[in-house]
Amino acid sequence: MQLAEPQEFERVLSSMCTEPHPAAREAAERFLATNPGDPDTYESVAALEDRAMDLLGEVTGHPEADGYVASGGTEANVQAVRIARNRADTDDPNLVAPVSAHFSFTKAAEVLGVELRTAPTTDHRADPGAMAELVDEDTVCLVAVAGSTEYGYVDPVPDLAALANEVDALCHVDAAWGGFVLPFTDHEWHFGHADVDTMTIDPHKIGQAAIPAGGLMVRSQDLLDELAIRTPYLESTSQVTLTGTRSGAGVASAVAAMEALWPEGYREQYRTSMDNAEWLADQLAARGHDVVEPDLPLVAADLSVPMTEQLRSRGWRVSKTGADEMRVVCMPHVTRSMLRSFVADLDWY
Ligand SMILES: *Cc1c(COP(=O)(O)O)cnc(C)c1O
Repeated sequence: MQLAEPQEFERVLSSMCTEPHPAAREAAERFLATNPGDPDTYESVAALEDRAMDLLGEVTGHPEADGYVASGGTEANVQAVRIARNRADTDDPNLVAPVSAHFSFTKAAEVLGVELRTAPTTDHRADPGAMAELVDEDTVCLVAVAGSTEYGYVDPVPDLAALANEVDALCHVDAAWGGFVLPFTDHEWHFGHADVDTMTIDPHKIGQAAIPAGGLMVRSQDLLDELAIRTPYLESTSQVTLTGTRSGAGVASAVAAMEALWPEGYREQYRTSMDNAEWLADQLAARGHDVVEPDLPLVAADLSVPMTEQLRSRGWRVSKTGADEMRVVCMPHVTRSMLRSFVADLDWY
């Protein structure tokens, strides 16, 4: 059987992943046969994971942060909720999040037996007042989104962290997508800005690492200890990850990407992508569409459903928000010339 061609990114405007940095691709290949799930046997990739944590700690404003390279944002979010649940003293735990939170929290709630309470947003951002109404003594975790999946918007993290503190819940920031652009903005989103306990930040999205490379970060080691289970028959004696065997390629490529790009390469990429997002927003507005003003490099606009479908039939990969707006994620592979031909196709209809 002929092997299918791997993905081309020429017309992909819908994805939160992108082509890996060349150094990340090379590192992934070299470490394909390593398993950081067994660190005392696979020592060199375990050392690389420590390096990944040092770099992620710098990105998230807390060099002493601990954590591990997860399979993705979903695992990191599930594990953050698991930390909060295990740490709390209640038989009836609940999790409070804005409706804009990623669907992985629905999975987390189901798997962990935690009730998910979602609060309405104001202008696509979490509303601390609405969140406060849902919080009670059984709340184990509050979620703040830093770069929402649908609009790329950032919640008021310090306000939500303060609210979590009031009820002795953990504050988890989901920066799975936004984490590698937020350092170059004025947003207050990380461990250094607020009393944040845990965070998700994915090298395999804007970080330009190879899939699978997600990141779970915790403020202090004791939070990670909430996840530890004993592991007979491995050389190491306990494990905090959700998966057992996991990808050394993800770990190595995350380090290679961050060493190549942090901070200047990411800063430059942010500027280019943000310029592109603003350019596209202007082009769409000039054509009479209602545009959700981009904050991070993600543009949503009210193109009609048939229009979106026609664009898809011309090979463009575009996605839609829950409110049926067209959504374009300006990832590193999305260039200005690509957007120019996209807009030209739009004018054709
Ligand atoms: C992509 C994303 C996730 C899920 O990450 P995966 O790597 O797809 O599992 C979670 N939260 C946010 C905000 C995301 O953008």
